[in-house]
Amino acid sequence: MPETPDVGTGTQAAAGCVSAVGVVGDRGALQGGRETPLVYIANTAAALTSEAASRLEKWELQSVSRLLLSRERIKHCCLSRISREKNVGVYHSLSHSSSHYGGLQTCGSVWHCPVCAARVAERRRELLTRAMAAATDLGGHPLLVSYTFSHKRSDTLSGSLGAFLDAQRAMVGNRPYKRLMAKYGIIGTVKALEVTWGRSNGWHPHAHVIMFAPAEIDPAALEEGLYRAWGPAADRRGLTMTRERGVKVQSTFGKVADYVAKWGHAPARRLWGAEDELTKSHSKRAHRDDQAGSGYSPFDLLRWLNDTGESQAAALFRDYAMTFKGRRQLTWSLGLAALLGVAADAEKSDEEVATELADDAVLLATLTPGEWRAVRFANQRGQLLEVARSGDVLALRAFVAELVVRVAPVIGYAV
Ligand SMILES: [Zn+2]
Repeated sequence: MPETPDVGTGTQAAAGCVSAVGVVGDRGALQGGRETPLVYIANTAAALTSEAASRLEKWELQSVSRLLLSRERIKHCCLSRISREKNVGVYHSLSHSSSHYGGLQTCGSVWHCPVCAARVAERRRELLTRAMAAATDLGGHPLLVSYTFSHKRSDTLSGSLGAFLDAQRAMVGNRPYKRLMAKYGIIGTVKALEVTWGRSNGWHPHAHVIMFAPAEIDPAALEEGLYRAWGPAADRRGLTMTRERGVKVQSTFGKVADYVAKWGHAPARRLWGAEDELTKSHSKRAHRDDQAGSGYSPFDLLRWLNDTGESQAAALFRDYAMTFKGRRQLTWSLGLAALLGVAADAEKSDEEVATELADDAVLLATLTPGEWRAVRFANQRGQLLEVARSGDVLALRAFVAELVVRVAPVIGYAV
């Protein structure tokens, strides 16, 4: 029997009690304006906490990304089973108060997939926190260095990202940089690659680097030295910058710890969403106003598209997705992870991390193929995991049973 066609996400019709499921509004626009009747599924959850709303939103945004990237691995991520012989498992971790699926294909893309990105970020955050603690135990001082350059709206992403990464590689190989690292006895670095898009200045690829120093050092002197290394390397690749914005060093432990704690977290939920009962035109205006200054993260582009259906957001996300596909998000300098005792975890690929279960994860339930088809059809993958977070098997079983009863007549077969 063919798989039930996947459906897009719906909008919250009433806070916490009913969710609309089906291809609606924005998704209709994405799919050439085709309208599909709504199917209403009772949502057993009470009012959502902001954390729960954020967890649920990543499933919604994954559906948007999947529609845009239909030839990429995200197409099957957390949707298709690994094999016909293997059923979907629902796992619960007491120590992490979290729940996950097993037996499903996983794309592992931190760039394409909000679900995998959140999972990988959670593990990488734990790893960076352990590295920070280990460095501090050794008497080290972490610093946060940010590298950027001036950019304009007409710059292409592939062009500016290529030049930026080339310039970064050239900088760490050049003499001024090596002398600086030797002068301060820098132990090593971890670099995170990021990108935002702004209406005024277009794509903004940049890097944040956690630098481990053996002792407290003068941040202004380090910043000046780094600028002298970064400026010429960037200039040779056609990138321009100002002294104020090209490189920035933050030296307090709190600033670095704060960066690590927030790293990979979805930004605060949008203010312009359908849940705010704004009209479409109001929503579009809010997007233009609210994001004008700070820029859109890639997943903000999915939110923008989800809210308004505007084709510009789709084109921007596709451009970003193809340009960043396969790139490393986090790069450890040679030997640093081993020195800090985290090499085994630092060497794991994003895909490995995305599929890894917590050590104490227990199997709460196994779903039959029919049950999983119902979960997929009703677009309740995230909601099911919210129920499973409590570890309450009976509640989970009741949720699935109710879903099956409500969906079976709609999809036209017995489950
Ligand atoms: Zn994924």
